[in-house]
Amino acid sequence: MSDAARKFLVGVLLFLAAGAAIGWLYDHPVLGLLAAALVALLWQVRQLLSFDRGLRTGNFDDFRQGEGIWEQIFSRFQYENTKAARRKQSYRQLLREVRKSTNAMPDGAVILNAENEIITCNRAAKHLAGLKRKKDRGQRVDNILRDPELTRLLHADDQKLTIEMASPVVDGGWLNCRVVAYGADQKLLLLRDITERMRLSKMRRDFVANASHELRSPLTVIAGYLDSLSENDDIPPGWEKPVEQMQNQAYRMRQILGELLELSRLESSGKASMDEPVDVGYLLNESRSAFEGHADIARILVDLGSTAQLSGTAAEIETIIVNLLSNAVRSTPTDGEITLTWRSGSDGADLIVSDTGEGIDAENIPRLTERFFRIDKGRGREDGGTGLGLAIVKHVLARYDAELIITSEPGAGSEFRCHFPPDRVVLAPPAALS
Ligand code: ADP
Repeated sequence: MSDAARKFLVGVLLFLAAGAAIGWLYDHPVLGLLAAALVALLWQVRQLLSFDRGLRTGNFDDFRQGEGIWEQIFSRFQYENTKAARRKQSYRQLLREVRKSTNAMPDGAVILNAENEIITCNRAAKHLAGLKRKKDRGQRVDNILRDPELTRLLHADDQKLTIEMASPVVDGGWLNCRVVAYGADQKLLLLRDITERMRLSKMRRDFVANASHELRSPLTVIAGYLDSLSENDDIPPGWEKPVEQMQNQAYRMRQILGELLELSRLESSGKASMDEPVDVGYLLNESRSAFEGHADIARILVDLGSTAQLSGTAAEIETIIVNLLSNAVRSTPTDGEITLTWRSGSDGADLIVSDTGEGIDAENIPRLTERFFRIDKGRGREDGGTGLGLAIVKHVLARYDAELIITSEPGAGSEFRCHFPPDRVVLAPPAALS
């Protein structure tokens, strides 16, 4: 017990004793004691009420601060009060600093709650996406920035996922968006200006597409003359071989230009249409048949584990199959085996091309989808590869939000698995299952 509390108790007891003593003088000690207790109680109640009023109004003028235990309670209260005010002031200062620094950030930052409602945002979010800190507070961000890709990002629960979105306020502007979860159920939506990057990549795409297009016409003329020359019986002796080689190279150049144009087309196109249900099983059987006539190639098997179809475009799915299958044929010895698999489940569907061929070193796997990447440069050219096949496969798959997963072991074969998301899988009608 503190000194003040002890003093308070002693004071109360003395006061009650004095009351009892005065009562005793008049032959009513109990009455005197009760009267003193009542006075003491009333005084404490008055102090309590006046303290409560002070707390509500902030004005403690009526409160007798220096009396009894109240002196200690009041000074403790004032001490805590000043401490809280100082703390509040320093938090306010900190908040001002944080706001100043987030406002200085070139990237937009929007704090969202679990319902994707805006709590606050920085100045860059206003410049990049037109969000206003005060006006848009409490509004759902996907109601203000209406983009299906952003809605997908907000519901994906994947911190690594990023999407690209046209800026709603800057004409021709592009934003890269990412969501980072933090705290109990808050998220940070980060917006980065990638207009310049997009402009450069469009320039590169346009350049490759234009150059390929421009080179096509002269090449057609050259190839035409070479065809005529090769059919000409008056060709000087010793020229047959060089003409044939030139013809082969012209054919190869046409193939490369065609594939470069195809890549440019894929890069600048959006998502694949969902209109056509594609019978993947049929395409796999067709592709196997197309290779059947070829001599000296490995055995090709088709394993259909599903009758599901894929919503997209048959020609694009065929491009994937043909590229993966021709790679497998090139990499597998004649006594090896290539399997084309189609299967589906609740998490989507897989189109798999696996072989028992030469396999790929782990260090090369991440680079396979780069343009013109070949493990054995010389061999690729000899056997007709352009180094663009897997880049095309990757770009076609991106149009389906699908992934290419490559697993391989040198000497033990490779597996190229194309994983399609469930919304691309069309389950076969019941008749097809029976
Ligand atoms: P290419 O036209 O040269 O086949 P791709 O982009 O299709 O170009 O493939 C890139 C490289 O990946 C190939 O040159 C080859 O070295 C390697 N590759 C692709 N598929 C296989 C496979 N099934 N087994 C081993 N290596 C492969």
